[in-house]
Amino acid sequence: MDRIERVTLSTVRLPLPAAISDAKVLTGRQRPMTEVMMLFAEIGTADGHTGTGFGYAKRAGGPAQFAHAVEIAPDLIGEDPNDIGRLWTKLVWAGASVGRSGAATQAIAALDVALWDLKARRAGLPLAKLLGAYRDSVRCYDTSGGFLHAPVAEVIDNATRNLALGVGGIKIKVGHPDPETDLARVREVRSRLGDDVPLMVDANQQWDRPTAQRMGRALEEFGLVWIEEPLDAYDAAGHAELARSLDTAIASGEMLTSVGEHAELIRHGAVDVIQPDAPRIGGITQFLRLAALAEQHHLTLAPHFAMEIHVHLAAAYPHEPWVEHFDWLHPLFDERPAIRDGRIHLSTRPGLGVTISERARAWTVDRAEIHQR
Ligand SMILES: [Mg+2]
Repeated sequence: MDRIERVTLSTVRLPLPAAISDAKVLTGRQRPMTEVMMLFAEIGTADGHTGTGFGYAKRAGGPAQFAHAVEIAPDLIGEDPNDIGRLWTKLVWAGASVGRSGAATQAIAALDVALWDLKARRAGLPLAKLLGAYRDSVRCYDTSGGFLHAPVAEVIDNATRNLALGVGGIKIKVGHPDPETDLARVREVRSRLGDDVPLMVDANQQWDRPTAQRMGRALEEFGLVWIEEPLDAYDAAGHAELARSLDTAIASGEMLTSVGEHAELIRHGAVDVIQPDAPRIGGITQFLRLAALAEQHHLTLAPHFAMEIHVHLAAAYPHEPWVEHFDWLHPLFDERPAIRDGRIHLSTRPGLGVTISERARAWTVDRAEIHQR
């Protein structure tokens, strides 16, 4: 039986090309975002197998994730890397006093993803194939070009460029203080892209219930694929009321940091489209548990961010999913996703199929090596 011999943890500060604003910035709740803090976990075994995982933090939480991972990673040393479910539980109990969600779970996620990458690489299979894939490509839509700091002309340019690249849909942000600004932007984007392009909007939790109802009704005419995070992420009852009263699908879930929180959304019938984020909910082990529950409720899966991981998980979901295209993480890896015909095509490389780039190594701000004693 193989044994985990070492774990290397590193925090990498990824700069963004522009300061990013969504509705949370316009309501004054957050500052524009200029960087993403990555947590990389690299696991090595006595037999010479390796796996790489990652998680991330936006605005705050990067140092906390790193510190927690450094504290719990010694519990993996000497363990059989194949027993991922058992190891996930062991890591949760190692840090039980800080809870089963939030930064603690996100620290576990990087380690969990590394274990799954290792298992798939050992098998010589892409992760999607190890899990059992339903398809070898997944519909994708772009988010990175549709933020609120960009004037609508720039949003349309970005959308046109992404569609030409082969992306299959476009999401734009809404949530301006004046709803008319949102409606004018959606109208212009819809008329310039045409009715055939799948289009979504994302309010990033900044509407109250009456505003969301009013905006939801006003947006029906644009034939959107979904309205994302119209309300506070934890307002399951409010989302459920919207989902019942509107024709347009309601999407949410990216801010939640545990399967239990997602289960609450599902119990309320709050969403038509569920948007889990593996690095936020504790990794692939937890994502698979949630995906099974979501499938039982006939939900569409559209994982949030981290497409390098999610393309595999979406390929293994029974119903046709969507994956969110962001170009932000490209500098971190040597490989690029193959995008054409509206879809990301899975690579045949084993595991996640990504290698940490030299550029990412140069952005390392903190590093810890945990070895067999
Ligand atoms: Mg979103």
